[in-house]
Amino acid sequence: MLNHYDTVWPKGTIGKRPFRTDGRFAYGPGGVFDMKAGMVQCLYAMQFAAEHGGSFVSLFTGDEEVGSTESRPIIEDLASRSSRVFVMEPSQDGKIKTSRKGVGDYTVTFRGGRAAHAGLEPEKGVNAIDEMARAVLFLHSLSDTARGGTTVSVNVASGGGTRSNVIADWAQVQVDVRVWTLSEAERVDGQIRSMRPHNPGATIEVSGGINRPPMERTRATVELFEEARRAARTLGIDLQECAVGGWQ
Ligand SMILES: [Zn+2]
Repeated sequence: MLNHYDTVWPKGTIGKRPFRTDGRFAYGPGGVFDMKAGMVQCLYAMQFAAEHGGSFVSLFTGDEEVGSTESRPIIEDLASRSSRVFVMEPSQDGKIKTSRKGVGDYTVTFRGGRAAHAGLEPEKGVNAIDEMARAVLFLHSLSDTARGGTTVSVNVASGGGTRSNVIADWAQVQVDVRVWTLSEAERVDGQIRSMRPHNPGATIEVSGGINRPPMERTRATVELFEEARRAARTLGIDLQECAVGGWQ
């Protein structure tokens, strides 16, 4: 069972909203929904397993909201030795997530050969914004709703020359990629990395990549869901599943 105990609240929030209890309720900026409630369920499950001779591994991390930078190797190690993992994140409208899109984040930098005066020697300039504009159209063409809703979108663009009469020698875009399957992640990643400049005097540099692989709805996932559904039914809960588009 996978848990995280950090929250998105900035440091110092606890000073403004101190922890307090009031009868049956506890208050504080702790992320009750995401995801202290899941941790409590996990602790009860551990206690139940201990009392009934079962066992499972529970992992509690403290850096999920910032990208699991320190805990990632531990997560990957335990995942590789686990046949099944329940992530104790909150459900969506009571539905548990059996698939989630993978997310990629790229920065693409375009450089012209040199900056040149737009009036005096335009032939010597290689316009980085021209490269960027062509690349943006290419990147958007990688979106493929037919392949299950792959999206590639450029949402931040910057750069340019120093003045309106100097040919732009630098430009940069940030690209958001979302895919349902690993094969789509590989297709899009390959296309982004193999982009070549239109003008031979320009260069294209790609950094970033797929940082959260998709969780595909595999046969094993469906089996695990069915098992949870059967267990929930004994508690009078009609458990449903859902798919989500982003990292949550
Ligand atoms: Zn969370």
